[in-house]
Amino acid sequence: KKITIAIDGFSSTGKSTLAKQLAKELGYVYVDTGAMYRAVTLFAMQQGLISNDHFDKQQLISALPQITLQFQFNPELGFAEMYLNGLNVEAEIRTLEVSQQVSRIAEVSEVRAKLVEQQQKMGEDKGIVMDGRDIGTVVFPNAELKIFMTASPETRAQRRYDELTAKGQQVTYDAILQNVMERDRIDTGREDSPLVKANDAYEIDNSNLNREEQFQLVLKLAAE
Ligand code: C5P
Repeated sequence: KKITIAIDGFSSTGKSTLAKQLAKELGYVYVDTGAMYRAVTLFAMQQGLISNDHFDKQQLISALPQITLQFQFNPELGFAEMYLNGLNVEAEIRTLEVSQQVSRIAEVSEVRAKLVEQQQKMGEDKGIVMDGRDIGTVVFPNAELKIFMTASPETRAQRRYDELTAKGQQVTYDAILQNVMERDRIDTGREDSPLVKANDAYEIDNSNLNREEQFQLVLKLAAE
């Protein structure tokens, strides 16, 4: 029987790595909800609606109907890539510049409502692994399996640093650590759907289990 698997947790805890691996093994669809918040952020940046020192929230809310988000499976990569208004933005949304604005965009209730509705539609067919911050609490409170991932900010910053430098991006470890901690602060402190572990989620701490151990543990839980 196919189920819904919700994976939540802090930034750069390895949620998407685990989710992709699970989806592949189980033949499920993987949905990266962070990519959707990132794509809305990219749109706002392109329109000049947000920067470090300004955010035109009302303009963004009015422009929401102009934003179309789609996932398109790329068989070569083995996962779906993010399309913003018909254009592949998979590379642009993964930059530190987008990471530095995304949590302020994700605080806007109207943005969340639009994305949550789309996420719930994608989950109508079972056999889905979705990762994010509010999947087990808001998007799929009835998910059969919920995982909550944590790790120290330093472990997570190192992870993200390795990922971005491998892609050739010019970043410093300190800037990333600061961004990881700032996003934690905004994500846990926001009024609408704050990042919190669902009561019935299994907590996985990266510091104790390696990737393969995490994968085996969650596979076992999914089979129960
Ligand atoms: O998962 P990722 O790090 O790509 O998410 C980027 C940001 O999008 C998070 O820091 C958070 O602010 C926001 N987000 C969210 N709810 C989700 C997924 C992401 O608020 N379900």
